[in-house]
Amino acid sequence: MNEFDLIRQYFTRPAPSAVLGVGDDAAILRPTPGQDLHVSVDMLVEGRHFFADVSPQALGHKTLAVNLSDMAAMGAKPRWAFLSLAMPRLDEAWARDFSRGLFALAGQHGVELAGGDTTRGPLTLSITIMGETPQGKALRRDAAQVGDDVWVSGELGLGAIAVAVRNGQLVDAGLSEDVLAACQCKLDFPLPRLELGQALLGVARAAADVSDGLLADLGHILTASGVAAEIRADSLPSLPPLEAQRERWLDYLAAGGDDYELCFTAPQAAREAVAAAGKAAGCRVTRIGHIVAGSGVRLLDGQGAVMTLNKAGYDHFA
Ligand code: ADP
Ligand code: MG
Repeated sequence: MNEFDLIRQYFTRPAPSAVLGVGDDAAILRPTPGQDLHVSVDMLVEGRHFFADVSPQALGHKTLAVNLSDMAAMGAKPRWAFLSLAMPRLDEAWARDFSRGLFALAGQHGVELAGGDTTRGPLTLSITIMGETPQGKALRRDAAQVGDDVWVSGELGLGAIAVAVRNGQLVDAGLSEDVLAACQCKLDFPLPRLELGQALLGVARAAADVSDGLLADLGHILTASGVAAEIRADSLPSLPPLEAQRERWLDYLAAGGDDYELCFTAPQAAREAVAAAGKAAGCRVTRIGHIVAGSGVRLLDGQGAVMTLNKAGYDHFA
């Protein structure tokens, strides 16, 4: 099997909504009239974004999921993906399982793989994703306003706990098998909040996906919008056993990373509409604070006193 056989066998699937998909020098795409086109790229490197022994199927899922999460954060409907793949050797079993994981998730969201590039090298995966929103309607980071509520989807901290367990930093943490399994599942198979993102169009103001930790990613919204936020530590959503010991797990909930949830702001008048969007998307949404004038995030305890954390989100060059 050579490079071209591998592409044909494992990375060529019908792409009916593309004018031309895999196989030519370039794909041909026809964006929907009246829609804005979103383009985003994310890269995953072995040892940095995933453990060397993660299953190829999980890796296929996650490579696409982290990109879909960016589309979700903008309220975009994802349409086409392009896969850049560097692998140390031509490993057919790996390619088969990787592509299974990738196409299973792609199929769930109507995403078509329309092209890519394949080369020899240290295992590195990158997807360029394209999606659409109705013109001028996207959820942007720079749209938060003073007085907005701050919301977050789903449960925080699980992915980061799975990473810490794996790194031997959480021995005897007293977590049940069920909780540990849920954390591992969230790390390996994160579910991008696409339905929620699209349901929030016209409801939310600013949004970002939480990949580097809630406070860090909320910080990007605040910087872009020129505002500050106050977040109540005792409101951060997670699994019930973790919520029962929020103080113990606060670093993970507030700054852990690998959550792939959505953090967004919305006017107070939109509380019912946000709840309805969450319901329609089958996704928990929790109000965790509000936007104020100034800059930066203040994390407040139950008495309203400012708290400090040990971690402050993930920074690749820190
Ligand atoms: P070129 O030599 O012009 O770069 P390639 O031989 O790299 O073309 O790719 C041939 C076709 O296969 C192109 O349509 C390209 O988009 C597609 N392709 C290559 N690698 C992948 C991949 N990993 N996944 C999906 N499509 C791919
Ligand atoms: Mg090429």
